[in-house]
Parts: sequence; structure tokens; C-alpha cells
Amino acid sequence: MILNNLNEIRQQNEVVIIGSGPAGISAALQLEKRGINSVIFEAGNVNYDEKSQSLYDGKIIGDEYPDLKISRLRQFGGTSGHWGGSCLELDSYDFKKWPITKSALDPYRQNSYEILNIKGNFYKKSFNDYFDFFNLNWSNVRFSEKYFEKIKKSKKISLILNCPLLMLNGKDGIIENAEFKKNYKKKVKAKYFVIATGGIENSRLLLWIKENNNNLFDERLPIGKFWMDHPYHSVAEGIIFHDKFHEFLKKSKIEKYFDFNCNYSFYFSPKRNFIDQSNLLNTCLLFDIRQIDREFKNDFLNRLKCLAPNVVKNKFFFEKTYKDYKFSLSLIKDQKPTIENKIILSNDKDELGIPKPILHWKRSENVRRSSRIIVERFAQFLISENLGRLAANQFLFNNEIYKHENGYHHIGGTRMGANISDSVVDKNCKVHKIQNLFVAGSSVFPTAGHAYPTLTITQLSLRLGDYIYKLMA
Ligand SMILES: Cc1cc2nc3c(=O)[nH]c(=O)nc-3n(C[C@H](O)[C@H](O)[C@H](O)COP(=O)(O)OP(=O)(O)OC[C@H]3O[C@@H](n4cnc5c(N)ncnc54)[C@H](O)[C@@H]3O)c2cc1C
Repeated sequence: MILNNLNEIRQQNEVVIIGSGPAGISAALQLEKRGINSVIFEAGNVNYDEKSQSLYDGKIIGDEYPDLKISRLRQFGGTSGHWGGSCLELDSYDFKKWPITKSALDPYRQNSYEILNIKGNFYKKSFNDYFDFFNLNWSNVRFSEKYFEKIKKSKKISLILNCPLLMLNGKDGIIENAEFKKNYKKKVKAKYFVIATGGIENSRLLLWIKENNNNLFDERLPIGKFWMDHPYHSVAEGIIFHDKFHEFLKKSKIEKYFDFNCNYSFYFSPKRNFIDQSNLLNTCLLFDIRQIDREFKNDFLNRLKCLAPNVVKNKFFFEKTYKDYKFSLSLIKDQKPTIENKIILSNDKDELGIPKPILHWKRSENVRRSSRIIVERFAQFLISENLGRLAANQFLFNNEIYKHENGYHHIGGTRMGANISDSVVDKNCKVHKIQNLFVAGSSVFPTAGHAYPTLTITQLSLRLGDYIYKLMA
């Protein structure tokens, strides 16, 4: 049901969820399934609202990174209002530093596919000695469109809009109430509180709550630290020789996975052995293939003349390339968690009196290094099988500043782990040493892998819903 005013909120609630993005809504849906009441407090309105969005202002220090006001949405349904919908599961080895294994999310797979309207028909297959190829699923779900009417009719989920969290208050390891503002301020009590405000606000709010509640949090909690995104950059362009490539696919019995008729994107990743032996960051190679056009051919051949003169000299090569494919290669990479990449509070405050966030974000040299090794390996493969050629971008081989071309996956900051000194929440997403406070979203990921985060966020939130249900049973 939709609540219009803070006076409609009960004095004592079962679960208060702060934030209505994929994380908050998935947790509420699971609680509803288990018969537990929850109230979602959403800072924004049903649709985009300039005033609400302006409260997402923040500063960035380090590498070039998208404005924090555009890389997330402060409205009902959260950032799913303009996400791309790409869905992928993390690799099982991405969980090496997590306190849970990938299989802990298995019970929530099917349900997460239903929430995101995807089939979940993921595969990963061997391409050659160094690379696998895999597929994504695409979700068409905007959480606001799919879930507003459902929540309106729900007897178990209540939603109050335009009602931002101002503060959590507590002592002796227990959160006693949450303070919200809608026309006026009100303190709301609940058995359990879930912060699901996105990968920057989760850290920002916890830092602010810590500053205002002496001794509530253990001093050692690394709130805001080990923050990550997926470094994303274009690394090469090239051509694929039509006949040779199809012969290779046929010989490898993988032809059916490469449907070139619809100008397709294909996805590769380095094999585990290759990652370990070359100390690489896990990576998605986004291989975007198109039919060659004249403009591309002339431009590309000019560049290729310098890099591979013998290939270009070949008359046959010139004659047949119109039938071939051109491709561009971009990499989406894992980023190792470091203490230097973090969210801290600024001295500058927003209209609600909450300090704005400062994001410190830099890519390590291993991002460039592993991109270079991966591109070189891919190029060698094309040459050795004579399947095509690529021209790599120069920044891979020097110290040039290079662009981060995406910047929308806000990961870490309240990461999950067993030790209080290097993690904020435990394996059940409960803040260490606080009995009734949980965090939902990619801020709890201890490592990022290369997979788009929202499918895993959804699965973890469903799992969190179940965990709270078990605590209440
Ligand atoms: C352009 C773009 C493209 C993307 N594409 C993809 C993709 O293809 N695949 C993918 O997996 N991911 C993608 N993402 C990332 C994806 O959108 C996020 O992973 C996902 O939305 C995170 O869900 P969340 O619920 O944790 O946070 P959010 O969706 O950010 O939701 C947080 C919610 O909390 C609310 N809130 C914030 N502060 C408060 C407060 N003080 N009080 C109350 N409520 C508050 C917000 O209004 C919002 O509703 C993309 C992101 C962007 C920006």
C-alpha cells in the first residue's frame, strides 16, 4: 500500500527498508513472500524529480569519472529507471574472497530471473586455450513500472515516497529508530532496518550515522573503503576474415553460438589458468561485430599499413575484405579493492544537512597491464589462425591518460567479510556488532568480478529477506 504521510506509519514496524531500487524492492518482495510486513522509505518521487536528484551531488577525486548526479537515480525504482538491463552472474572464482560461495545464491536464482524478466539461460564455453565465450541476458524491467501497482495493492509492503532517511539512532549495538523527513521529521521504530540506498549512499549514510552516534559502530569498521567500479575502455579495432573465421567456428563446433546475421556483440573472458598465470584482472571482452563499410575499410587499412605492412601488401587481402567483418573491442574489468579507493564525507552539506560524498577513485596500473596482455593474446590468436587482425589503442603501451567510458557500477564501501577490521557487514549482510542493521546492494560485494552487478544484488537481497524472516521466526 502507498502511505501519504508519516503519521500513517505504525509506531512499531517489523522491517524498515530505506531505498526502493532493485535491492530494496527485492528484499521487500521476499519478506512479503514469507508473510513479513515491511515499509519502504523512498527519498524520491515515482518519477524523476530535479530537486530530489540534486541531492545526489558529490565530488570526485582521482581518475576521470561520471558526475555522481547522473550515474544514479534518486526516485522510486532507483537507478533501474535508466539502467541498461544487461544481466550476468559472477564467476564462481570471483567469490574467492567472499565469506560465501556462489552456491549460497543458488536458491534465489529462479526468483531473481522472474523479478528481472530474464530466462537465466546463461552459458560459458571454451573458445580456445586462453579464452572462453559467454552470453548475457537482457532485462526490460524498470522496477518503478513493474512494481508500483503491485506494491500499491500489497497488504505486506508499504511504500512512502519523498521521505528520505535523515539519521539512524541507537546504542549498545541496537538501532532504536530511524528518522525521516516528509513535511516534518519523525522517528520510526522497527525490529530490523535495511539500508538499500545504492552503492554510494550506503557508505555515505553509514559514515554520517557513525559521526552522530558515539560508540554505536566499532571504530575499526572500514565504512566507505574498498570502493570499486568496473574499469571500462575501448582497446582495439580490427577485421575478421569471414571464411576463415567461419571455418574455425565450424571446426571448434561452436558455430551456432555466433550468429553474425544480426550485427551481434559477443563476449569473451580469459580462462582461469590464464588469469592466474599472468596475474590478470578478470575481464569481459566485448567484441562488437559489424559488416565492413568502405569508410571503415580505408581508414582501418591506412592504420594497418603501419602495423602489419605484409598483410596489407597482399592483393588478395584488398579484394576480399568487403565480405569481412569489422570489430571493436572494449574491456570491462574487475578492479582490485584497495583502501585508497573510498567514499568519505565532505564538509559541504546538502539541503537535508547531510555531508555530501567525496569519491576517491583511481585505476591501478594492473588495469592497463592486464588489458594489454589480454589484447596482445587476442591479437596473437587472430594472427596464428589467420582469422583477422587488430589495431590496439596506444594507451595500452605507454603512460597516456585513458578514458573510463562507463562508470555506473558502484561496488564496495560496506563490504562483506568475517573480520571487523576489513569488512563492514557479515556474510548475512548484517553490520558487524549491530544486532538489527543490514545493508543491501553492491556496496556489500567484497570483490567486483567483471559481471554487471544487478542480478547478484537481486539474489543477495532475496537471501537477506529470507535471513530476516528466519530471525523473526
Ligand atoms: C546508465 C546506467 C546503466 C546501467 N546499466 C546496468 C546494466 O546494464 N546492468 C546492471 O547490472 N547494472 C547496470 N547499472 C547499475 C544498476 O542500475 C545498479 O546496480 C542498481 O540500480 C543498484 O540497485 P540498488 O537498489 O542497490 O541502488 P539504486 O538503484 O541506486 O536505488 C537506491 C534507492 O535508494 C533511494 N535513496 C537514496 N538515498 C536515500 C535516502 N536517504 N532515503 C531514502 N531513500 C534513498 C534512491 O532514491 C533509490 O531509489 C547501470 C547504471 C546506470 C547509471
